[in-house]
Amino acid sequence: MVILMSLTISKAQKLAFKTFEEINRRIKTARGKEWNPFVIVTDILEEAGEVASVVKGLEGYKPPEKAKTKEMLTSELSDLLYSVFLLAGYYRINLEDAFIQTIRNYRRRFLHEDK
Ligand SMILES: [Mg+2]
Repeated sequence: MVILMSLTISKAQKLAFKTFEEINRRIKTARGKEWNPFVIVTDILEEAGEVASVVKGLEGYKPPEKAKTKEMLTSELSDLLYSVFLLAGYYRINLEDAFIQTIRNYRRRFLHEDK
């Protein structure tokens, strides 16, 4: 497996989904079940919860013995992104164009730019 040093959103999505398909084949063989969109959605929610937990710790709302780090947040955000890419990949959605449109929408809405 070649891991690219620099990724576009499209390439990152493809890499994530290809990895997912390989993992899913093994899971199906071992457990007789495949990851489906409902499981991927629960993964997104689970990872979002892990992001929330780390931020809670970073902001001092967790016991100090359960210290959270910026590296942990980085890892959890990446996990979340992976799951989002899988759901998009499942439905053959390319997020690159949609993401550009999202930025345009935010700029229009909050910065009052025309396009
Ligand atoms: Mg995680």
